[in-house]
Amino acid sequence: MTTHKLRIEQVQQRIRAAAERAGRSADEITLIAVSKTKPIADLEAAYAAGIRHFGENRAAEFAEKVRTSGHLQDIEWHFIGHLQTRQSQPVAQSADCFHAVDREKIAQRLSRQLHDMHRTLPVFIEMNVSGEPSKGGFRAADWEHDPRQQAALVQAVGNMLALPNLQVTGLMAMAPWRAPDAEVRRVFRRLKQLSGWLHLALPALHAPALSMGMSGDFEIAIEEGATHVRVGSAIFGER
Ligand SMILES: *Cc1c(COP(=O)(O)O)cnc(C)c1O
Repeated sequence: MTTHKLRIEQVQQRIRAAAERAGRSADEITLIAVSKTKPIADLEAAYAAGIRHFGENRAAEFAEKVRTSGHLQDIEWHFIGHLQTRQSQPVAQSADCFHAVDREKIAQRLSRQLHDMHRTLPVFIEMNVSGEPSKGGFRAADWEHDPRQQAALVQAVGNMLALPNLQVTGLMAMAPWRAPDAEVRRVFRRLKQLSGWLHLALPALHAPALSMGMSGDFEIAIEEGATHVRVGSAIFGER
């Protein structure tokens, strides 16, 4: 068995086990293989092992990967990184899902471009629940207690729900880097609670999906309700 196939089966097994521990079905969880920095041969190997969802985080590299993977049918492309406004074109044109809406301006820009292309794009809104200054996303470190933060979040998410051709499907967050498991779990749990709270405030945000969990913490994320896990190095090796 190839290295890729073996690693993918191990990750899928760990996803099933984590789902089972949480009383969930593994079918609710989409595994996104994060292929950033890796050559197309690695995507082909993962594709041969059954992967159809791929994640990239740089606009130029993403456009290049889309261009050179035309022979791989039915790939779903997830753009998972911060997106600069002037680089939004390839994402509007080719992404099947965007996970890192971290400001209203990028949402507005994508909405206009998608409208011109007659496309609709599902998106996740990135929330900075941990409060780390190095993390992107809307300020949500104190969403449970700070009425001004709550109002700002409802306002921003409400505005983005109203944008044409953009389909807000849920929230995304990253756990603190190398934090203890308990702290990671708390961040994921608070993102899920935030999504439930926002759903009550904004019923148009239907059954919100949760994009959370990477190679180091996807099992905790699944136990806490992740619907999309973004796994790179556990599948493709270190970068
Ligand atoms: C790189 C990246 C991942 C995957 O990271 P691994 O630790 O290699 O699994 C997930 N999400 C985002 C936003 C990333 O940039």
